[in-house]
Amino acid sequence: MSIVIVGAGFSGAVIGRRLADAGYRVDVLDSRDHIAGNCHTHRCPDTGVMVHAYGPHIFHTDIQKVWDYVTGFAEFMPYRNQVKSTVGDAVYSLPINLHTINQFFGKTFRPDEARAFIESTQADTSITDPQSFEEQALRFVGPALYEAFFKGYTEKQWGCAPTELPASILKRLPLRFNYNDNYFAHKYQGIPKEGYTNLIGNILDHPNIDVHLNTPFSNAHASRADHVFWSGPLDGYFGEKLGRLGYRTLDFERFTSDGDWQGCAVMNYGDPDVPYTRITEHKHFAPWESHDSTVCYREYSRACGADDIPYYPIRLVEEKALLSQYEAMAQAEEGVTFVGRLGTYRYLDMDVTIAEAMVHAETFLSRRGTAAS
Ligand code: UDP
Repeated sequence: MSIVIVGAGFSGAVIGRRLADAGYRVDVLDSRDHIAGNCHTHRCPDTGVMVHAYGPHIFHTDIQKVWDYVTGFAEFMPYRNQVKSTVGDAVYSLPINLHTINQFFGKTFRPDEARAFIESTQADTSITDPQSFEEQALRFVGPALYEAFFKGYTEKQWGCAPTELPASILKRLPLRFNYNDNYFAHKYQGIPKEGYTNLIGNILDHPNIDVHLNTPFSNAHASRADHVFWSGPLDGYFGEKLGRLGYRTLDFERFTSDGDWQGCAVMNYGDPDVPYTRITEHKHFAPWESHDSTVCYREYSRACGADDIPYYPIRLVEEKALLSQYEAMAQAEEGVTFVGRLGTYRYLDMDVTIAEAMVHAETFLSRRGTAAS
């Protein structure tokens, strides 16, 4: 009997490692031909650039034990995410900060003036408890900034009206009345020097762990398993028998060039008539490296079909009932723990995923003891 972990991303690796350290034999299965899930990175053989194959991943956290954990398995390089957005015929700084506000409104506000301006002339203060993405935006930045930076981008990214999306999605982004253009406000921020695949490979590198690539989970695995940790899609585990939960998938249009294509790692496109959401230029995620050529991805978001890779759980308000049913089924499923962004159908960042995986492993061990006990 062994532990079977489905998915070789952060959840699977962290749980697998902890249980392997406690003496369990662990089989980690992944249906893809590589580890690290959607965090997978690889070096482009032509340019030498480290490519974030499934889109940009910047590690940021306030959780000390998570930072200690990841930096214990790989060297992290300092990285500051500074995102730009092209809207109309101008390039602005994100997240919305004093520079964005002054440029957008043609002003020279100081912080208090900008705050008063937004609050008295832009924000819809009649919204006291914003429920949807749109209400959250109208309450905090008002219609002009909302339409420029959020409405078009969000419609492209999520394929639905921002009135249908939860306010929590926009709460990911800060609004600043100073010139701080750090996209994240966390204490720690960085990118593993040799990429995420190297990091996750190091976590999985243990004599008690066997990784099986190109290996979908099957009944045979289930019958041999003492316990299963499932980090695949929640509805996928149940064969989608109640219907499919909504996910977004991404398509990347890759192109290469000489020199520096856009001068930054991430350029968002707020306008609805530009079909892609953003262009990422991968060598800028490794500013400590130097490359003559460059690799860029134009990123397009669309509804996730049956054979596509899911990236983002949508969590539409109207999907709540279906989600609750799947959650109840997951709760009742004996011998299986559902983990991670897809397994719990939540828009989790890497650090929270790791923190939760640590808890799952400890919970398991506290119930079952170490393999030797
Ligand atoms: N968003 C937006 N305009 C932007 C950047 C983000 O409207 O220029 C919205 C969009 O709905 C997005 C959400 O804010 O899904 C969260 O953004 P974040 O950068 O956290 O998205 P991620 O990098 O996880 O795709």
